[in-house]
Amino acid sequence: MQEQTKIKPSYAGICKFCRGEFEKAKMSQHLKNCKERARMEAETAKSSKGKKFVQTKLFHIVLEGKYNPQYWMHIEMPTDAQLIELDDFIRAVWVECCDHLSAFQIGEFYYESEPPSFDFSNIEILNPDEAASMEVNGTTSEESEDDEEDLEDSEDEEDYDKFDLEEEFEPFLLETIPDDIVAKLRPIHSRDDASKYLREELKVKIAAPKDKDRESIMQYFQLRERQRTVKFLIEMIEDHSLYAELGEVLSVGQKFSYTYDFGSSTNLNLRIVSERDGLMNPKDSVRLLARNLAPEFKCSVCDAPATLIFGGAWGDGNTYCKKHAKKFEGEGLLLPIVNSPRVGECGYDGPGSKYGHEFDI
Ligand SMILES: [Zn+2]
Ligand SMILES: [Zn+2]
Ligand SMILES: [Zn+2]
Repeated sequence: MQEQTKIKPSYAGICKFCRGEFEKAKMSQHLKNCKERARMEAETAKSSKGKKFVQTKLFHIVLEGKYNPQYWMHIEMPTDAQLIELDDFIRAVWVECCDHLSAFQIGEFYYESEPPSFDFSNIEILNPDEAASMEVNGTTSEESEDDEEDLEDSEDEEDYDKFDLEEEFEPFLLETIPDDIVAKLRPIHSRDDASKYLREELKVKIAAPKDKDRESIMQYFQLRERQRTVKFLIEMIEDHSLYAELGEVLSVGQKFSYTYDFGSSTNLNLRIVSERDGLMNPKDSVRLLARNLAPEFKCSVCDAPATLIFGGAWGDGNTYCKKHAKKFEGEGLLLPIVNSPRVGECGYDGPGSKYGHEFDI
């Protein structure tokens, strides 16, 4: 894949179904109307393979490099898939080099494999089993164990939703929460409902003080403080690990972002384009719909198509053909040019084999 030499507009991409080439901005619309996609889906539904598929709610998600949006992808995922499955996919196809940390940012909150270090609430809420399962790191390849884990999860789900204000928070913490919030939370006994109420509180807009008198300004800062408390409470009672389900934390139209590696970071912007009912192989959690064509790089010496990039120095002037890369040989800094927003970063040298079958376009 990395040695494409054809000259193509860099923002164009290919539809996985009809293999037509479309501009980036037109791809969502095309995928909605692609006749070949509809035909293939109808065919799958009738086939023996398709009989094993399940009807499920699916999110259409578009991903792109935040600082290099010429790299983009359209995928589909069940709404009950977990963020860790999206993380796993992004790592496999676009970013994984040496198992760096990663996180999603959704609204004001981070969802990450490691809980924030200050967040002692996790120790209070989780029983030892759950706490152990939080320690699993970002990459999971133990597919075979998934089924068993799922069974355990569903048994725990009801328990997990149980909410009791006094059990959740230490008395000293309760004293710092505004009385009206405590009064609203006390009769709530579902974690979901508590989170819904707090998310509504968080939506309250705080206008800048109209008057410059002391009272208006005091009031403004009190409201700000109240919002901070609400945010803190949400972080304490919600699951902000990568085990959160997509459908629980995202909705149609919503934008969010992803960071892989907090040193030499690769940042992605993502958006939920739409939701539909469709068929999905229960063994898969991601289906590729379309992706960009590999942008072309030229050798900075001879103008021939470049296949190698000087690591850590992304951009013009750092790409070489095989011949002119020779002078850097043995320096260990030359990386293959691959179709990924992480090209040239850290030791990134291309996708893993896990989703290889999705990428023969
Ligand atoms: Zn198409
Ligand atoms: Zn690395
Ligand atoms: Zn050259």
